[in-house]
Amino acid sequence: MTLFMPRIEISLAKIQDNARILSELYGQQGISLMGVSKAVLGEPAIAAAMIQGGVEFIADSRLENIQRMKAAGVTTQFVLLRTPLSQAEAIVKVVDISLNSEIETLKNLSYYAQIHNKSHQIIVMVEMGDLREGILLADLSSFIHKALSLPHLKIAGIGCNLACYGGVRPDDRNMRELSERVDKLEKEFRINLGVISGGNSANYEWYKTAQGVGRINNLRLGESILLGRETIGRKIIPGLHTRAFQLFAEVIEAKIKPSLPWGEICQDAFGHVPVFQDRGLHQRAILALGRQDVLVSGLKSDNTLEILGSSSDHTIVTSKNHGLKVGDEVNFNLDYGSLLTAMTSPFIKKVIQTEVIDFYGDIAA
Ligand SMILES: *Cc1c(COP(=O)(O)O)cnc(C)c1O
Repeated sequence: MTLFMPRIEISLAKIQDNARILSELYGQQGISLMGVSKAVLGEPAIAAAMIQGGVEFIADSRLENIQRMKAAGVTTQFVLLRTPLSQAEAIVKVVDISLNSEIETLKNLSYYAQIHNKSHQIIVMVEMGDLREGILLADLSSFIHKALSLPHLKIAGIGCNLACYGGVRPDDRNMRELSERVDKLEKEFRINLGVISGGNSANYEWYKTAQGVGRINNLRLGESILLGRETIGRKIIPGLHTRAFQLFAEVIEAKIKPSLPWGEICQDAFGHVPVFQDRGLHQRAILALGRQDVLVSGLKSDNTLEILGSSSDHTIVTSKNHGLKVGDEVNFNLDYGSLLTAMTSPFIKKVIQTEVIDFYGDIAA
């Protein structure tokens, strides 16, 4: 049987295992997990595997992905990571909890929550230095004060996001600062901030080295569940699977050719003037896979195939010692950017390996 190419093979058993190991690890200090599904386009079977592994929430940045999971029958607490004002009505209808940092958006959420007779929960995002989303510390009190006055919203908790835009490392100092803010706000407003969501896959090193986790009781994890790595240095987290995803592509040309182009060199298809290394005559292959399918620069072969370059639809590899022939398939590991693009590409078939795990079932072997 010839399998469809390009395709991405997805091991639900490995994803579930990663979610379980991380849930147990962080659970030791009372930290619950949100499994983040945005890099896999909210693939319902993957969300279900995360839930089986022990995550208590599924979080995604896109309403469409959450709708997809709900339509497929995934039941959990859904969290929206990015909250556009223009989607306020759909948000209160579809998700339980959203992350927020603008009062104007909260007013809209509250308005539509009333119309649809819903109570919408919010997690208030605090700026801790990474300069993506979040309320500046100086404005936090007045924001909470205003949020509390909105009748159809409930403050479910508080959170921060680091190591995304500014590359700021989650450490004892910023985590302790968040905990202190929580204590202060709870006193000031006589409220209980339930969920204290301290960050993402970049929080692993902080967790392993911190004396205590303070008030932090939740993390939102995508990459470490999916790819088995923390995101400060992209180190493997001990015990986790790093190959839950494998990308397969087809060889459409395999020939011995010179390694240096001839003729006058001008811009390539993407506007760059390419530079080449002279390797003499060599065995090379072209794959039916390109930048319209995947972020090629984030692919890595374990059998030492080297990617020489790519255009929209073609990827060129050196196939020395591999004896690649037309029609052969080659496989690659993916980094986060490649995973995100491959899962989003309509051209790449998603092959969910179900021989070891049922949709909502247990690992059979
Ligand atoms: C994407 C995202 C995450 C997950 O990040 P990972 O590095 O994949 O763990 C967490 N929080 C927010 C707000 C996000 O947008």
